[in-house]
Amino acid sequence: MTAFFSHPAFFKHEMGPHHPESPERLWAIHDHLTRKGLLPLLDIHEPSQAADQDILRVHTVDHLDRLVAASLKDKAYQALDPDTAMNPHTLNAGYLAAGAVIKAVDLVLAGKARNAFCAVRPPGHHAERNAVMGFCFFNNIAVAAAHALEVHGLQRVVIVDFDVHHGNGTEDIFANDERVLMVSTFERSIYPFTGDIPMGSNMINVPLDAYSDGTAMREAVEFQWIPAIEAFAPELILVSAGFDAHREDDMSHLLWTDQDYAWLSEQLVKVAAKTCGGRIVSSLEGGYHVDALARSVAHHVDALLSG
Ligand SMILES: [Zn+2]
Repeated sequence: MTAFFSHPAFFKHEMGPHHPESPERLWAIHDHLTRKGLLPLLDIHEPSQAADQDILRVHTVDHLDRLVAASLKDKAYQALDPDTAMNPHTLNAGYLAAGAVIKAVDLVLAGKARNAFCAVRPPGHHAERNAVMGFCFFNNIAVAAAHALEVHGLQRVVIVDFDVHHGNGTEDIFANDERVLMVSTFERSIYPFTGDIPMGSNMINVPLDAYSDGTAMREAVEFQWIPAIEAFAPELILVSAGFDAHREDDMSHLLWTDQDYAWLSEQLVKVAAKTCGGRIVSSLEGGYHVDALARSVAHHVDALLSG
């Protein structure tokens, strides 16, 4: 059983006309999952809002206070960094996105779902402990990891991040936390221009060269991620699932295909089956070519369904 989380509020957060992180991304995913006959196979859930204490496991009080204060200003758009803005629906969507990954962790750890995909907006992996960044407000996957560790008492959680941009926020939050192993690939020398040198010994960062195709990613997964995950023996695998390394996505210069996302997702399902009873909670990050995003998500969900 694969759980699927969505909420109408995720469609209401938007950052202005022509912003690439748009509600159209989710419409495309829903349409394509329906067209492929996958949606009826999923156990569909609507999340409730995360509590402040869930957010504050990974963010500072100042960070939360700034977002709440900004949300009270009642402006159509409130710019928080050069490419990140709030509208009147953003804070609610942010709490619900964090609430989705928390509920997904609860379901998977209770054995009520084998794994889960959270089709959330806003994304999270650039949000640092004390900073909004790169379309991200609350670091959803970090909230999920902290919930698993501190509420469920897990001792070892893996975070996989295959978004084309380095997950600087997640690294900021968990560097040198020995309860977490983070493995990632990202394109070298693009936004946020971090990650070449990991901030902690629990980070396996594999920068990929511009214009490299899925072969380089497959080598990283096979020879660096999988052995490290197996040695770590996680109790749960969390995934920051970004689909912007796709060759049709002009947010990057990597040349991954639909089949690369299918292969990668199958590897994650396999290593989860081997190490942690198949327990995966995956949450949407980037992916800006809406057709390529929707197709790639369908391959990802298809792999989860086979898990
Ligand atoms: Zn990205």
